[in-house]
Amino acid sequence: MTDMYALQIKDLTKTYANGTKALKGISLNVNKGDFFALLGPNGAGKSTTLGIVSSLVNKTSGSVQIMGADLDTQRTQAKMNLGVVPQEFNFNQFEKVFDIIVTQAGYYGISAAVGRERAEKYLKKLGLWEKRSTPARMLSGGMKRRLMIARALVHEPDVLILDEPTAGVDIELRRSMWEFLQEINDQGITIILTTHYLEEAEALCRNIAIIDQGSILVDCPMKELLGQMNQQTIILDVERGLPDSVHLDQFETVKVDDHTLEVVINKDQTINELFNELNKASVSVCSFRNKSNRLEEMFVSMLGKSEDA
Ligand code: ADP
Repeated sequence: MTDMYALQIKDLTKTYANGTKALKGISLNVNKGDFFALLGPNGAGKSTTLGIVSSLVNKTSGSVQIMGADLDTQRTQAKMNLGVVPQEFNFNQFEKVFDIIVTQAGYYGISAAVGRERAEKYLKKLGLWEKRSTPARMLSGGMKRRLMIARALVHEPDVLILDEPTAGVDIELRRSMWEFLQEINDQGITIILTTHYLEEAEALCRNIAIIDQGSILVDCPMKELLGQMNQQTIILDVERGLPDSVHLDQFETVKVDDHTLEVVINKDQTINELFNELNKASVSVCSFRNKSNRLEEMFVSMLGKSEDA
């Protein structure tokens, strides 16, 4: 039964006019109520996929259904079922915040009276009510992003798609955005997002698909994927005067310079265990970070595997 899914994509292909095969036949099912992440390196085909789902890009072949409504045969219904938050701010910068939402409601055939009620509801939800009379161009980047979300919700869709929702958003704001997305997901809206940040997918998403060069590499629960990540390399910034070799019982260390240490943690080990051992060895840590983006490490190891296969 196709209407079991919030989004169902079957054998989707896209070849652009210049011959680029952006999608080579992908299939994906997203359950109703899911919080789903589509990840992949630059150029993988994420935006093309979302572009097709949101009717901004024409597919070459395959099918897409949104809450059971087919894009080819029930396009209006499919669009009603979907809210889209694209990466670029594409509202009229000179229009006032409140009017942007009401105008959008009109596009969906919602009466002006209901449009105004919805504008109030969603601007309040997103902390923008105080800014309702401000022209959009006067808003900060984070506020503009929230305005995009409020606008995408005005026709109360079942499925919300966000393309890189927290790109360029500072950490504090990112957390409040996460909380908001979690809240609306709890209320039953299916959320699908693309992101470059594994941390973001990890914090929010139950299921994840990874796309590379127009094909799906992985489609599984988030937990399963994290379990497959064998190791990560941590860079520790420590107090100056590090001895030539630091011996830890369970961890391999490499001294980079007299205040920097590189340590590999495998999936059975925790950062806490590492810190306990460093403590025993009298090494004081000032700060630490992942050597590379974990997502990139994962891509590298996966892409390596897929080429071997
Ligand atoms: P992602 O969102 O994962 O970065 P995209 O879907 O934007 O990937 O791009 C997938 C591939 O399609 C890339 O090789 C990109 O260069 C190409 N592409 C995207 N848009 C166009 C376009 N309008 N015309 C031609 N090629 C395109």
